[in-house]
Amino acid sequence: MTTRVWDYLTEYENERGDILAAVDRVFRSGTLVMGESVRSFEREYADYHGVAHCVSCDNGTNALVLALRALGVGPGDEVITVSNTAAPTVIAIDQVGATPVFVDIDPDTYLMDTSQVAAKVTEQTKCLLPVHLYGQCVDLEPLRRIADQHGLTILEDCAQAHGARRDGVPAGTIGDAAAFSFYPTKVLGAYGDGGATITNDDQVAANLRRLRYYGMEKQYYVVQTPGHNSRLDEVHAEILRTKLMRFDGYLAARRKVAQRYSEGLGDTELVLPKIAPGNDHVYYLYVVRHPKRDEILERLKAYDVELNVSYRWPVHTMTGFAHLGYEPGSLPVTERMADHIFSLPMYASLSEGLQDKVIGAIREVLQSL
Ligand SMILES: *Cc1c(COP(=O)(O)O)cnc(C)c1O
Repeated sequence: MTTRVWDYLTEYENERGDILAAVDRVFRSGTLVMGESVRSFEREYADYHGVAHCVSCDNGTNALVLALRALGVGPGDEVITVSNTAAPTVIAIDQVGATPVFVDIDPDTYLMDTSQVAAKVTEQTKCLLPVHLYGQCVDLEPLRRIADQHGLTILEDCAQAHGARRDGVPAGTIGDAAAFSFYPTKVLGAYGDGGATITNDDQVAANLRRLRYYGMEKQYYVVQTPGHNSRLDEVHAEILRTKLMRFDGYLAARRKVAQRYSEGLGDTELVLPKIAPGNDHVYYLYVVRHPKRDEILERLKAYDVELNVSYRWPVHTMTGFAHLGYEPGSLPVTERMADHIFSLPMYASLSEGLQDKVIGAIREVLQSL
């Protein structure tokens, strides 16, 4: 059987009783949308982060869209971010009519090179959008200084960083707002799509609540601007509540997988994940690199081990973003890493047997090169 990069079936078997009970509670509650489960999940997720507000929505992309709009980002504004990210980070900027401006990444962590941000600030810049990619945090201290100096907001893309910390501070609590995805593969995943934004700003939270509900403040009446229909279903909220209770266990399990990979592959030519000082990595992905990446992936096909590349095509090189005008070579580190990186199977319920199969297969392939 193929070892998949991600799988929920073992987890489901382990937690089936709780998941089905959650579904049953909702179906028997008489409310399927915007009820007690959503309200409870929002309160619990805010409390987990020690912030004032959590506003749930239907997916992570829309969490970013709603957050950008709630922060006042719109047509003509520029948002500084990275090209080494899931395309939805950039799609969200595009959807609100703003222009993404890319900086390159750090070659060790693959995260935003914050030293390049100040030079990209213009009169149009409105927001900085760091992505805590793969499960570890961008250093927000230099970004906060730049943001304060120029009157910018910070939106953290936390879609891959639930539970991550830097210097003990949870991801998503330093920026003006932070967007999460609960897509099933994520560190905290629903059994379907879901998303949320957290913030300490009462006005931003009020904007988010309005914007996710057509723009309505009272029933059936749009007072300010038309919004979106972007709600989290009760059934996903209730399942997320049960998973939130196990969340620290998931993080510990992911870290254990990462540790076993690092032990099993530490003496090979692979460049293993590097953790920046102060970071608690949650390993949404375990990303390694090797100059012969494509040959390794080709040879691994014989071993029934699925691997993934996140991401093979930096956003600025995609034809769909040609209008942004980035030439090949404009983000050299991002482009070079995209040719070398790949990620190993990673999820909390990945068995030691499958981990060993992955390690064994990669070791054999590396020796055969
Ligand atoms: C998954 C992801 C998103 C989008 O979330 P969806 O729930 O799939 O819409 C945005 N940004 C990053 C970095 C992601 O990994």
